[in-house]
Amino acid sequence: MNPQLLFWIPAALRLLLVIIGAGIVWAFFGPITGLAFAFLAVTVLAFLQLYYLNRLDNWLDNPESKKMPDGFGAWTDVFARLYKMRRDDERNQAELAEWLARFRQAMSLLPDGVVIMDDVLFLEWCNPVAQAHLGLDLERDKGMRVTNLVRHPAFMDYIILGRYDEPLTLTLRGRKLVAHIIPFENRRQILVTHDATESERIDKMRRDFIANASHELRTPLTVINGFLEIAAQPNLDPATRQAHIKLMSEQGQRMQNLVEDMLTLSRLESADLPLHAERVDIKALLEQIHREANVLSGGRHVISLTVTGPDIKGNVEELRSAFTNLVTNAIRYTPASGKIDLVWAETEEGPQFSVRDSGIGISPEHLARLTERFYRVDKSRSRETQGTGLGLAIVKHTLLRHNATLAIESIAEEGSVFIAKFQKNSIYYENGRLPEHKG
Ligand code: ADP
Repeated sequence: MNPQLLFWIPAALRLLLVIIGAGIVWAFFGPITGLAFAFLAVTVLAFLQLYYLNRLDNWLDNPESKKMPDGFGAWTDVFARLYKMRRDDERNQAELAEWLARFRQAMSLLPDGVVIMDDVLFLEWCNPVAQAHLGLDLERDKGMRVTNLVRHPAFMDYIILGRYDEPLTLTLRGRKLVAHIIPFENRRQILVTHDATESERIDKMRRDFIANASHELRTPLTVINGFLEIAAQPNLDPATRQAHIKLMSEQGQRMQNLVEDMLTLSRLESADLPLHAERVDIKALLEQIHREANVLSGGRHVISLTVTGPDIKGNVEELRSAFTNLVTNAIRYTPASGKIDLVWAETEEGPQFSVRDSGIGISPEHLARLTERFYRVDKSRSRETQGTGLGLAIVKHTLLRHNATLAIESIAEEGSVFIAKFQKNSIYYENGRLPEHKG
């Protein structure tokens, strides 16, 4: 039935009852009593309406804490509809709160910082990454102007100029940040911050590498070109020409070493090259390296080898190149009659290969940087001994691929020890046991 009729019919019936009642009273007790009855009945009805209006008014003062009043007549319907509206409202609010919580959780998982500000840059909300990037504290700073919280001249200029179509790069709290403001909902703005420190570092490494590699290749090329000009002279005596050819071939060799080391390094670094792990016969490998070391030393050093540790899993060619690098360095940086000890042993932490020499040693300030590409303590000594400056970088990468690390201890003028530390789980087992050693 039409709700309007449902509203009016009971009211009309009540009025009809009053009129009928008044008519009956009029018939029995005369018109004055009949009219008095009608007046009284209408007054009672009017007070009833006022009573429910008052209850509604009371309830509206504090709808949360008070019980919804019961109704009478048309009030039943009014209260029922109000009650339904309230229930719908509560459900909507709960849904909204849940959605907001989910949104905030998603925002807090983002790798980038997100700050929500109003049109005049007052902080409304930010995620934890933004707090770390910009040094904000949501509880403390909420409602404050972001320009008062992030005090950086470039950031201020960015805001003042309002050229938000381009991101801003700034260094803040030791981080390289890319910040971008995006207006939305025409009265709000989002500030997104991205930490570019790592990609900037990699970019710089790449730039430095290209600059260093070009420089390293240019030096021998300049020498070769110079010699070629001299060698081209027709009246050059054969002995001088021979000497120049020898020097040129040395420079050629230097360039070849450099290119080979660069290729090795790039191969080691290429992420999609899987490590081919197989049993590495450490004793055979180190005995061969020991023999080659004696040839390289030409009897100028006393080189010992002790192998007591187990075989490991790994890539034999990569390990050969890394171990040879360490042993070759020991020979190159140890003056004649020095001592070099090569030891493969098992320790509490896992197997280790140590190369100890009684050479020129390294001052402490250089130790941390030795594995950087092209880092050398003494450039001329490195070049004299055909060094590329990439040897220890190759060692470090090879060990990294074997889950191993390189430790360096050294005292200037006394000697150094380079230790390749492998993990226990690198040990090669056959059916759960250490294998018999091959002949
Ligand atoms: P290089 O080709 O110059 O030897 P490396 O990367 O192998 O390059 O080594 C980097 C630097 O570390 C060397 O230039 C040298 O100064 C220092 N170094 C390496 N091994 C030793 C060592 N056994 N004794 C002293 N210094 C060393």
